Amino acid sequence: MRRFRLLLLLFLLIFALNLYAQQLVKPKNIILMIGDGMGLAQISAGKTFKGQLNLEKMKVVGLLTTHSCDEYITDSAAGATAMSTGYKTKNVSIGIDCNGEKRETVLEYASKIGKSTGIVVVCAITHATPAAFVAHVPNRNMQIEIAEQIAKEANADIYLGSGWGWFLPKSEGGRREDGQNLIEVMKKRGYTYISKPEEFYNLNIDKVNKLIGLFAENHPPYAPDRKPTLAEMVKKAIEFLSKDKDGFFLMVEGSQIDWAGHDNNSEQILKEMADFDDAIGVALDFAQKDGNTLVIVTADHETGGYALVGGSVNDKKVEGKFVTKNHTGIMVPVFAFGPGAGAFAGFGDNTLIGKIIFEYLKK
Ligand SMILES: [Zn+2]
Repeated sequence: MRRFRLLLLLFLLIFALNLYAQQLVKPKNIILMIGDGMGLAQISAGKTFKGQLNLEKMKVVGLLTTHSCDEYITDSAAGATAMSTGYKTKNVSIGIDCNGEKRETVLEYASKIGKSTGIVVVCAITHATPAAFVAHVPNRNMQIEIAEQIAKEANADIYLGSGWGWFLPKSEGGRREDGQNLIEVMKKRGYTYISKPEEFYNLNIDKVNKLIGLFAENHPPYAPDRKPTLAEMVKKAIEFLSKDKDGFFLMVEGSQIDWAGHDNNSEQILKEMADFDDAIGVALDFAQKDGNTLVIVTADHETGGYALVGGSVNDKKVEGKFVTKNHTGIMVPVFAFGPGAGAFAGFGDNTLIGKIIFEYLKK
């Protein structure tokens, strides 16, 4: 009898320890940061330019394949959908799988289970990467429809980026031919709307229930000419989202690293990398203090076939060459920091991002 009690005690102890260990690796908050078009050369160039990257604080590193279900070379829509849903899709598809079936996104699921959610980008929020977290359309160019889904169906608590033209009718300076003012629709759903940098800097985040901030008609300019900056927006979003005791999911995109790659503009890649890394610094500062936040940094694909054929560490300069104006099929790195980071080490596929985030949310 005594032996039985001892065994039972031991069993209970193991059970409790196991539960504790599971709790330990389950992050309360998840911040997914996507450097659009950010391959290893872009990161190397960024490091040469900045000296030290915040990214270097992330000790878990892996590599991801990026092909879509119909092309070896993915576009941002299929790349983002793989990360937002855990499913591959065809190029240009948003939030649906290879068979055209609608797939729930990690943001939608996080919102459903009571977490606060947000999107922070330096492009129109109707653009491929952000759209793949909050919308479901067969073609990324359907930005009129994407805006309508964001305004009427999506549940993110905070959007910071640009692209108010997609939400307003032509009569009010926007692009919509259906006469709808979707900003008014969102205001009725409890969103505070801001469109000027001053409004952003003066905003009392404690007085806001939900927020949409769009700071350009379509896309904002290249860094450093953007106000507010990506880092400033990430800081504000975390301040807002971290008030939720149930935790939050935030997607951040360094959107224009990709465009500098398409432009074969090596100088601009340095500036966009520095801008994105500043935002990574803000997220890591929060995660370090909080202790319960997983930060994942990755890319949807590489852009430009960018190669460093010369440079100087002392002069903080690189000599860059490009083999294409398009994306390439090389694997992209993934970096992780915080509880649950270990799952991203080693080789994987871009669908791993969505699958693991779902796993952590469902635990
Ligand atoms: Zn691109």
